[in-house]
Amino acid sequence: MSAILHRNLAGGYPVAVSGQGVIITDTEGKAYIDASGGAAVSCLGHGHPDVLAAMHAQIDKLAYAHTSFFTSEAAEELSENLIARAPKGMARVFICSSGSEAIEACLKLARHYFVEKGETRRVNFISRRQSYHGITAGALSVGGRMKDRAPFTEMLMQGHHISPCYAYRGQASGETLEEYGLRMADELEAKILALGPDTVAAFVAETVVGATLGAVPPAPGYFKRIREICDRHGVLLILDEVMCGMGRTGTLHACEQEGIAPDLMAIAKGLGGGYAPIGAMLVSAPIVETIRQGSGAFPHSQTYNGHPLACAAALAVQKVIARDDLLANVRLQGARLERRLNERFANHHHVGDIRGRGQFWGIEIVADRASKTPFDPKLKLNAKIKQAAMAHGLLVYPMGGTADGLAGDHVLLAPPFIVDEATVDMIVERLGEAVDTAIARAS
Ligand code: PLP
Repeated sequence: MSAILHRNLAGGYPVAVSGQGVIITDTEGKAYIDASGGAAVSCLGHGHPDVLAAMHAQIDKLAYAHTSFFTSEAAEELSENLIARAPKGMARVFICSSGSEAIEACLKLARHYFVEKGETRRVNFISRRQSYHGITAGALSVGGRMKDRAPFTEMLMQGHHISPCYAYRGQASGETLEEYGLRMADELEAKILALGPDTVAAFVAETVVGATLGAVPPAPGYFKRIREICDRHGVLLILDEVMCGMGRTGTLHACEQEGIAPDLMAIAKGLGGGYAPIGAMLVSAPIVETIRQGSGAFPHSQTYNGHPLACAAALAVQKVIARDDLLANVRLQGARLERRLNERFANHHHVGDIRGRGQFWGIEIVADRASKTPFDPKLKLNAKIKQAAMAHGLLVYPMGGTADGLAGDHVLLAPPFIVDEATVDMIVERLGEAVDTAIARAS
């Protein structure tokens, strides 16, 4: 009997005791290949000696100092490192402890920016259905996973949602991918005009949609059009790269591949690689300048902002990725993963779509490929796949609600950047067994 309020009261979780490289081992001695890095977190794998050494060195010097009294060497160096490699125009970093906190900071700063500018009517945030931006109240308000929001709707900020850019289900016949992307982007302009352009603060979107859709990249040209629309109406663009950022898609930031830069950006998971809880907001220069010329302060702080130990861990993770050129491995092994997934699943009766970028891949499971009909959500197929994968010694990140927020199943893969060819092959082999086992059990 556990004293923990586990995420599921039925419990039944194995106890993880050690992690090395791509493997996590439990108390029974069972080894699991961590093919999703938890939830796309463990980008360097587990137990990396250089990260552990940096953390030990930091904790021996200073574990914590409150940011109302001090800054720290670790936080300063990490911020410099992030700004030096940030999308164009980024000028400052705000360091917090999770992805949700990074999104909350983006929402609050967007609003604060407009208050500083005297545009106080700008209170609305627009985001997309089937998106996930975190679990705290503000983040949940902009999130588009209606199942998560349902019990709390009455206490949340009003959400304004447009369609996701999800070609597998949204692209019309006779429409090119580019035309589809522009049609989806234009929904933003229609929504801004409906709300009144002077009432909209920001548009929030994951550059590559992660947990809720399963590694869905945008259509070509989508984000360029989004950027134009935001600029036309003075609306800020907030990119959520909590899951898809920090190298996961083969470039440090996913938006590099879209040829645009946001006004505010949230990063987290791969920033610290799971060695410490850390997230961050990157802030563009005009926003910093507006605050400097206004009140001179951002009234939003938390006790653990800029935690020195978390910053030292993240800095070490980022230095190892750069030193070992691990993004080259992300691109190389990502291409192998794509190939292997296609060999195993492209003709599978129940796999409707295989999509992704870098080492961020999703397969969408359907009852019928021709009609794209999902399995009955009551079968909880995604949970069964997770269970079967664990039985086969594999950790993947399946989720439901893919098709419309309620029905649909996908499996997300996000292996550590250190993965090798043999492990990629083993991941796909075990995933194939898990998918087949789960579908057989569900049918
Ligand atoms: N944004 C995205 C895109 C995410 O995938 C997540 C978490 O899965 C979050 C925000 C929230 O991050 P956290 O769970 O660290 O609060």
